[in-house]
Amino acid sequence: MKSATEVAIIGGGAAGVAAGRRLHDAGVDCLIVEARDRLGGRAFTAMHAGHAIDLGCGWLHSADENEWTGIAKVQGRTIDTTPPPWNRSSLGFRLGEQRDYRKAFNDFEERIRALAHADKDAPVAQALEPGSRWNGLLCAVVTFISGGEAAEVSARDYENYAHTEVNWRVVEGYGATIAKYGDGVPVVFGCPVTRIGYGGKRIKIDTAQGTIEADYVIVTLPTNVLCAIEALFSPALPDKIDAARNLPLGLDDKLFIALDQPEQFEKDSRLFGHKDDSKTGAYHIRPFGRAMIECFFGGSNARELEAAGEGAFFDFAVSELTSILGNDFAKRIKPIAIHRWGADPFARGAYSYAKPGKVDCRAVLAAPVNNRLFFAGEACSKHDYSTARGAYRTGFMTAGQVLGAREG
Ligand SMILES: Cc1cc2nc3c(=O)[nH]c(=O)nc-3n(C[C@H](O)[C@H](O)[C@H](O)COP(=O)(O)OP(=O)(O)OC[C@H]3O[C@@H](n4cnc5c(N)ncnc54)[C@H](O)[C@@H]3O)c2cc1C
Repeated sequence: MKSATEVAIIGGGAAGVAAGRRLHDAGVDCLIVEARDRLGGRAFTAMHAGHAIDLGCGWLHSADENEWTGIAKVQGRTIDTTPPPWNRSSLGFRLGEQRDYRKAFNDFEERIRALAHADKDAPVAQALEPGSRWNGLLCAVVTFISGGEAAEVSARDYENYAHTEVNWRVVEGYGATIAKYGDGVPVVFGCPVTRIGYGGKRIKIDTAQGTIEADYVIVTLPTNVLCAIEALFSPALPDKIDAARNLPLGLDDKLFIALDQPEQFEKDSRLFGHKDDSKTGAYHIRPFGRAMIECFFGGSNARELEAAGEGAFFDFAVSELTSILGNDFAKRIKPIAIHRWGADPFARGAYSYAKPGKVDCRAVLAAPVNNRLFFAGEACSKHDYSTARGAYRTGFMTAGQVLGAREG
């Protein structure tokens, strides 16, 4: 392993890859130090029966302005522009229900907007209308969007998220696109970092494979990982760790299941397991027209399913789907793949949300230290947090900060 570099990038997810790409292309001696044996982090494409399936990020959110869209095209990949299932009517809604639900959701977001502009921040749960029949489903959708429960998520942070409402997909995989973008950038794999000592002339990075010295370091670790590594920074950075603690990763997990006789369903349609319960899954049927169902579980529901073991996700999906589609439906489905992001020691969750009153923590986390230690990753983004696009932008920007620091 290389024991010295000018710029060490801790973590090779979307942010680390974007930073590494920019620095390497500028001729800077840099090294991505990655705990896993692959690039991409929470962007992770697996293959099944010739199909790329994204177990982490799958949607190019704000696709018309998303840098990864252009990168995927340059890589010769296919961009699927089919509108996402959440913009279409869901199966299982009776006549008029879809319209009622859509109105309830829009009104809920309107009230979140009002909360966000009030003097004091509040949890998005305060925007629920007491007694509304849709509260269970709205809370489930908050967990899909934020990973956290409605009572834990800041209204201001929710409102800060900016998007163009254009959502596309990469047929060959979003994760594969991000990993490929790192081609040629120097990386050391299987190398978890345990300590970053920045008190001396050069920064010393202790890893499972020994110590690496660097002049500059870009830290892209997920917030839950930052909090979990004891005494990561020396001298300690209590403000950073406190900021990370107030920007926890919520939890969302995807289970892919194979579907027999898929023609019964329209491609890219959607079904909720329950319309009145926050602990329900969202089932994306025939993604890309494939004979599959992509099941999405969020918040405490995902946490409980993770705790119950891998098989619990499939059992839960079977119970919800058969309750709607009949008992025989169980014979038509079987599990393909799942990744439990909460149990993954190098993620410890899915994506970040801010706790109520803690929206400024994103800027605290992103602030450089001594112009030598820089921070990137989705949680550092004020408007694009929780996305691979936000991760890209923070990575690209911190690489620019390093280029500036070298000149100054
Ligand atoms: C189920 C799920 C669905 C999602 N859906 C979407 C979506 O549709 N669209 C979207 O835009 N986003 C989505 N996301 C979020 C998106 O994947 C992330 O926001 C983005 O990939 C984060 O990139 P990052 O570089 O900030 O962090 P990461 O990808 O987490 O990168 C951090 C890297 O640090 C490494 N690391 C961890 N610990 C150490 C250590 N001690 N030493 C060295 N390296 C370490 C990790 O292995 C990882 O490679 C989804 C995420 C999940 C989990």
